[in-house]
Amino acid sequence: MAVKTSKFVWMDGKFVRWKDAKVHVMAHALHYGSSVFEGIHCYEADEGTAIFRLDEHIKRFFYSANALGMGIKFTEDKLKNAIKKLVKINKLGHSYIRPLAFYGYGNVGIFPKDVPASVAVITVPWGNYYSGDLRVMTSKYARHSEKSTVYGAKIGGNYANSILAMHEARKNGYDEALMLDYEGYVSEGPAENLFIVKNRELIAPSSRSALPGITRDSILAISKGMGIKAYEKKVALSDVKNADEAFFCGTATEIAPIISVDGKMIGSGKIGAITLAIRNKFHDIVRGKGKRYRKWLTYVG
Ligand code: PMP
Repeated sequence: MAVKTSKFVWMDGKFVRWKDAKVHVMAHALHYGSSVFEGIHCYEADEGTAIFRLDEHIKRFFYSANALGMGIKFTEDKLKNAIKKLVKINKLGHSYIRPLAFYGYGNVGIFPKDVPASVAVITVPWGNYYSGDLRVMTSKYARHSEKSTVYGAKIGGNYANSILAMHEARKNGYDEALMLDYEGYVSEGPAENLFIVKNRELIAPSSRSALPGITRDSILAISKGMGIKAYEKKVALSDVKNADEAFFCGTATEIAPIISVDGKMIGSGKIGAITLAIRNKFHDIVRGKGKRYRKWLTYVG
């Protein structure tokens, strides 16, 4: 996929041109994965360009930075305003927003003592993340648990685990990986949460190894609003394989049906009725339809 670009990047308080948004090769994060990031979806909504659940993403961003002992030298409000302005000056509608903070040029040791942290925001026009239904493979790599990293933090280095799982899946001819936790229960995908549907009920794995995703949280709320019983529980791999429906969800993925796991067809092998209903509702909500969830949208103005 060709890299999409935009005109400006926000770096440490300044709007700089895309080609000038550079870091030194000695940046600590490049060596040790000492970065934190967010992925945020911006939509063309009914009343203009709107960012989905900006507050929650920025909260998690600060939480992740704090987990790495990284002081962010901007307030949450300052960062939110920078994001809104960046979307505007880049003249973007439907787009992807990537806040990033990282330990920069300092020392070569692993502990980032006295190493300055930089903060950036990148925006790119939206491109489809998944082309369609997913054929998934169970990964041999276990997801990090809270015994090996900070639960709920999006730390760059943790994603080596996701990359390994994706390599494995793609090498074996699958679209995506399904990861188990350290106890062997189902956790999540490399960058998305899982849901299964059984007997018209929606079930989310309650693993402490999965990221408590913002899309997942939205879907739990939306489905309850639709009268679909939704709850969390420990999910075994056999529960997924015997589910009526299954789907991955995340900011980039939105809602993507899983049609098979390790070659075993899920349900009818096509998007299921409940997945479709939730997906349609989700697509409406992110575009500002339906009063109840308007609070989730921040208009760029
Ligand atoms: N799990 C992981 C590991 C992720 O990286 C993501 C993407 N942030 C998700 C789940 C989905 O989270 P969200 O809905 O907040 O994007």
